[in-house]
Amino acid sequence: METNFDIVVIGSGPGGYIAAIRASQLGYKTAIIEKYSTLGGTCTNVGCIPTKALLDSTEHFHTATEKFNTHGIDFENLKINFPQLMKRKGEVVQQNISGLNYLMSKNKIAVIQGTGSFLSNTEIKVISSDKSEKNIVAKYFIIATGSKPSSIPGVNIDKKRIITSTEALSLEQKPKSIVIIGGGVIGVEFASIYARIGVEVTIIEYADSLIPTMDKDLGKELKKIFSKQHINILLNHKVQSATNNGKNTTIKYLDASNIIQEITADYCLVAVGRKAYTESLGLENTKIKIDERGRIATDKNLRTEEENIYAIGDVIAGAMLAHKAEEEGVFVAETINGQKPHINYKLIPGVVYTWPEVASVGYTEEELKKENIEYRVGKFPFSANAKARAAMEKDGFAKVLSEPKYGEILGIHIIGPRAADLIAQGVIGMEYEVTDEDMFRISYAHPTYSEALKEAYLIASGQGSLNI
Ligand code: FAD
Ligand code: NAD
Repeated sequence: METNFDIVVIGSGPGGYIAAIRASQLGYKTAIIEKYSTLGGTCTNVGCIPTKALLDSTEHFHTATEKFNTHGIDFENLKINFPQLMKRKGEVVQQNISGLNYLMSKNKIAVIQGTGSFLSNTEIKVISSDKSEKNIVAKYFIIATGSKPSSIPGVNIDKKRIITSTEALSLEQKPKSIVIIGGGVIGVEFASIYARIGVEVTIIEYADSLIPTMDKDLGKELKKIFSKQHINILLNHKVQSATNNGKNTTIKYLDASNIIQEITADYCLVAVGRKAYTESLGLENTKIKIDERGRIATDKNLRTEEENIYAIGDVIAGAMLAHKAEEEGVFVAETINGQKPHINYKLIPGVVYTWPEVASVGYTEEELKKENIEYRVGKFPFSANAKARAAMEKDGFAKVLSEPKYGEILGIHIIGPRAADLIAQGVIGMEYEVTDEDMFRISYAHPTYSEALKEAYLIASGQGSLNI
């Protein structure tokens, strides 16, 4: 087997596999090292893809149970086949893994199974699952080892009753109840998956809103929508401990008045954030530094303290998002190639795949206030959008923040049907520094959800809505 490469990528998540493909396209002899038996990292195996498969299945069920009869479609004995739900999720993951195997072979990238550990800045030892070892030499390395779930004091993740998103994706039976610690992105996506199929869901969140790092209006609206879906939401509550009782788990928490309370459920899902994964990388054999939060420190070119070693994705600072990791993969391969690529981190959209979806790009209102940046707001409810009324999708709104003098768009925040896809037009607009007026003076097909954005641009510009 070849042991000498131009570029070796460590980790095959969306950061790693995209970096390897771009490196190979640019003519470098490339290898990718992956410690698991399948390619794709967190995103493909236990993240983006399986959650979206389960979110889609459960949303179909929810629509059928809650809305079909209003549409005039009657069903009897509608029920969830939980093993089939999980089986389909597994098949979707497998299709994506097969796609990656094909891409590696098409791009002539050597795939090396095993855990990579640096011996020096030019040599790495790979120990495979069968314990065999090989040493690989390269001119450049790209570290893309991703992240792992983190926990809080008093909560020991045993993967049986006190679980992470990974276990929550593969439960064998539909639980009766689940308590989710953390109302961030993972918390609200799993709350949706399980509540829609009749599981009793409680979210315990430390902050004063759901998805608290996004524009506050989004979290407020999501809470209203979740309450209609019978999800129990405890904000300003601080978890103290979780105990595995064998057949269930008890979670103790301080409520908003600082009084200790407890709740028992079949499972406790810990979704309080993720931490960079650098274990067994052998960083001590290099000059690479770690920052105060355990992430690999890089400069603005994503280069570590070693001139020939770069790092990308969840293992470095920034949003833990698959598309952020992908952008960085391309960025590093092109930087090694002598090109001058660019990433605008402020314009990386964030999407939460609840229904309705939540999507955001640019500044939040809270950030603009904090930075004393003047802004104006245009907000349009989906209840006033013709397509949303036809589709019974009246929850949510589109909100545009723009700069008062010239109208340049500063931020877009949507909670509503197909927000995940709608946000793309906002990203394009902001990348090319267009104004709210530019955006409403173009034609939007009628009736579409996108017209809600047109109205929000119009209102932000100060000209007044044509529909409310
Ligand atoms: P990872 O995908 O974590 O890949 C790292 C890989 O490196 C792993 O396969 C690991 O085994 C391997 N590795 C680690 N150490 C070594 C070593 N020493 N040697 C060899 N291999 C090693 N993001 C979105 O944008 N959209 C979503 O919808 C979304 N949904 C998510 C849902 C869940 C439940 C979770 C947990 C995350 C989700 N994310 C989502 C986040 C997304 O999965 C991550 O941001 C993304 O996977 C990061 O990519 P990465 O390449 O940096 O690392
Ligand atoms: P997160 O940071 O989004 O949310 C964690 C939540 O836990 C926060 O709201 C925090 O206030 C809360 N929390 C912390 N300590 C607590 C305590 N003691 N008691 C109660 N609540 C507490 O993290 P996550 O949801 O675990 O997700 C991890 C990463 O995965 C995120 O960075 C996210 O970007 C990524 N992810 C993305 C998607 C997506 O893009 N759709 C989906 C899932 C995960």
